[in-house]
Amino acid sequence: MTAELNRTDADALLKQLASRQSELLALTRALVETESPSGDEDGSRAVVTLLADAARNLPGVTTVERLPVENYGEHLRIHLYADDPRDTHTTLLLGHTDTVHLRGSLGLRPWRESEGRIYGPGIYDMKANCALALEALRACASVGLTPARPVVLLLTCDEEAGSNSGRALVEEEAKRAEHVLVLEPSAPGGRAKTARKGTGMYTLMIKGRAAHAGLDPDKGASAIHELARQIERLRSLADAARGTTVNVGVVSGGTRSNVVAAEARAEIDVRFNTSAEALRLDEAIKTLRAFDERTQLTVAGGINRPPLERNNGVMQLYEHARRLAASFDYELGETQVGGASDGNFAAAVGAAVLDGLGLDGDGAHADHEHIIAADIVPRGALLAALIATL
Ligand SMILES: [Zn+2]
Repeated sequence: MTAELNRTDADALLKQLASRQSELLALTRALVETESPSGDEDGSRAVVTLLADAARNLPGVTTVERLPVENYGEHLRIHLYADDPRDTHTTLLLGHTDTVHLRGSLGLRPWRESEGRIYGPGIYDMKANCALALEALRACASVGLTPARPVVLLLTCDEEAGSNSGRALVEEEAKRAEHVLVLEPSAPGGRAKTARKGTGMYTLMIKGRAAHAGLDPDKGASAIHELARQIERLRSLADAARGTTVNVGVVSGGTRSNVVAAEARAEIDVRFNTSAEALRLDEAIKTLRAFDERTQLTVAGGINRPPLERNNGVMQLYEHARRLAASFDYELGETQVGGASDGNFAAAVGAAVLDGLGLDGDGAHADHEHIIAADIVPRGALLAALIATL
């Protein structure tokens, strides 16, 4: 990670990206106008067809693989500059083709350009970034900056649904990779994401004993009263200084106000910055003991995504990216965020990960989802420079 970018090469990349902006936007528009919510098999296959067709003309491409996934569609894996698909020390570009926007969203919120912003369902998270990755790869070849390492572009189709099938593939490729560049949207202002919290989800079920609230209150053991005390205990597991949060987001239980509740349950979301905190929370939640021994607690769930920790590997990668960007007067900030991505899985297997390399914009998963058009050229050049110099 020592190679720098001289001004001539930087200018050549910027020029190349600018010359391809209309093609990039045409592909982005085709992707956005092909709706692909997670679990929509036809939509998934259709966007993969668009991307696979575009990838076949790219210089350096050795294989384009469409990997079918039951109930979701297809993952897409593209190898470039690779002699052998089992090559190690690769640069992995990681993204996804599914969106959270239900089929029909496009009719309500069609492609629209206004005041330098381009709107459309899934454009920012992350269809424009799929197109950007292809153009960044093309730019490397066009200006003669052939990457020194094999490059893998992996676009999964179930990231927004928790990566049930994508996870193993992400981990497999991340283990082989020297660096992982995650194409997730940047934070506002184009900032890269140098840390993401890990997440866990639990359900706490409490069984008590029903009784008449007036006649025999002592014969009952209230699951709801027990739950109330457990909620306080759960809240005490949060640690603001460490960024650990615990949210009891759903509760239910009981049948009538004059019946001591026989059952209650709560759904809990936890987030943490470190694996140590994940272990502490997981253990504490799984070993919750009843205050009222006549009630029984059962806990389901567990850690869902490990944290993407801001370690040396991440910060070196970020510093390298920041310097590359500065070489053409583009400022790359960084931040840490609470939401998780497939970058979390890549980091957990030990890869150096830089996340949030996608375009500047706003409104991921929301109605006003958009990208900033002026960011396309410098962001594409930055991505190309990273691929070429790592
Ligand atoms: Zn995403």
